[in-house]
Amino acid sequence: MADKNDALEAFRAEARAWLEENVPQSLRGNPDKVLEAFMAGEKPTGDFDLWRRRMGEKGWGAPTWPKAYCGGGLSPAQARVLAQEMAAMGVANPIIGMGTSMFGPTLLEYGTEEQKQRHIPSIVRGDLRWCQGYSEPGAGSDLAALQTKLEDAGDHWVVNGQKIWTSGAQWADWCFCLVRTDTSRKHEGISFVLINMRQPGVETRPIRLIAGNSPFCETFFTNARVEKTDMVGPLNGGWTIGKRLLQHERSGQGGGGRVMGGGASLPGLLETYWTQPDGEEDIRTRMVGNLVDARAHALTLQRAASEAKGNQNPSAATSIMKNSGTRIGQEKAELTLELMGAQGLGWEGEAFTADERGAVRGWLSGKATTIYGGSFEIQNNIISKRILGLPDPTKSA
Ligand SMILES: Cc1cc2nc3c(=O)[nH]c(=O)nc-3n(C[C@H](O)[C@H](O)[C@H](O)COP(=O)(O)OP(=O)(O)OC[C@H]3O[C@@H](n4cnc5c(N)ncnc54)[C@H](O)[C@@H]3O)c2cc1C
Repeated sequence: MADKNDALEAFRAEARAWLEENVPQSLRGNPDKVLEAFMAGEKPTGDFDLWRRRMGEKGWGAPTWPKAYCGGGLSPAQARVLAQEMAAMGVANPIIGMGTSMFGPTLLEYGTEEQKQRHIPSIVRGDLRWCQGYSEPGAGSDLAALQTKLEDAGDHWVVNGQKIWTSGAQWADWCFCLVRTDTSRKHEGISFVLINMRQPGVETRPIRLIAGNSPFCETFFTNARVEKTDMVGPLNGGWTIGKRLLQHERSGQGGGGRVMGGGASLPGLLETYWTQPDGEEDIRTRMVGNLVDARAHALTLQRAASEAKGNQNPSAATSIMKNSGTRIGQEKAELTLELMGAQGLGWEGEAFTADERGAVRGWLSGKATTIYGGSFEIQNNIISKRILGLPDPTKSA
């Protein structure tokens, strides 16, 4: 045990020294700087690009992925130490997005050796962006109703159809996509393919959101080309792979350590903004409730991670984490606005600080967290069916 701790402490010193040498000064002290640079969507530039290239080269952006595919090759315990050291420096991992959070882990589990060699290293380096082509105008919660069609064209496949709510499609190089390959069967007629977004048969139209930005698109495929080597898993065997990917997506949304809802501390906001005695007891009670829930959620995640030991694959329990993490985050966003009072209603202009403007936008965009990755109600259905073993009310006895 002592040896193990010594080895981890030696790794901590190594990680700290490497971070000290490689994290640009301008990105330290606030992890949101990296997230904002990534969300801006354009090709990475300046210090963000420098940090991305250094981390990508080191492989620590995907710390536990195998070295054979340029990953960090770290143990889960070492990865936790690295995350702690980055948190202490106030810098975020620049290798983010759907490549590392959803697609990469799924491809590592289901891809062929050739597919892994071709796609994983560029994800680890953060060179290419991925988007998720699941939802369609007629297929959201009932995802298996999807119609986008993939047909055999001899030496390649051809895809036709429309996806919707495709986050970051306008900036993506590749799309992991669920397509219909057999119209006579529902779940068993779906395949999982990889589509190059940089080709003439792909069109994206950004959709403007209530929070003022356009983070997602309608995506149209018109005779777009898919290589024969870019189907993951067997023909008509995409549903299982697609579901596994959703578990990875939900495990990220469940907090993965941090509950959404903004970084401001609620007690700090109370001290700065709350002036009236009326209602103070009530808001304190609700604030404490939210802080206790957030702490319990974080500890539950920690316990689940240590109980899982070597087994890193997510399960249906990610639905519980997603629902609790997103609800706690939404409550926190509500409390933040309430504590800020009129200052929490600013949209633009100098009368409001950047944090105040960010709070109202965060509150609005936070509404989406209980929709994407499968809605709150759909997670409850999964929990009742797969975890509690309750009968499915849509099937007659
Ligand atoms: C910000 C954002 C980003 C997104 N990004 C992506 C992306 O990158 N790629 C992608 O493919 N999709 C993406 N989505 C789409 C998302 O996955 C869907 O919106 C979601 O699955 C719900 O589908 P829907 O919008 O069609 O709603 P519907 O399925 O029409 O549901 C409407 C309402 O009915 C409820 N409902 C439906 N069926 C049931 C049921 N059986 N039992 C109980 N309640 C039910 C739902 O909970 C919901 O409240 C994104 C969505 C948002 C908001």
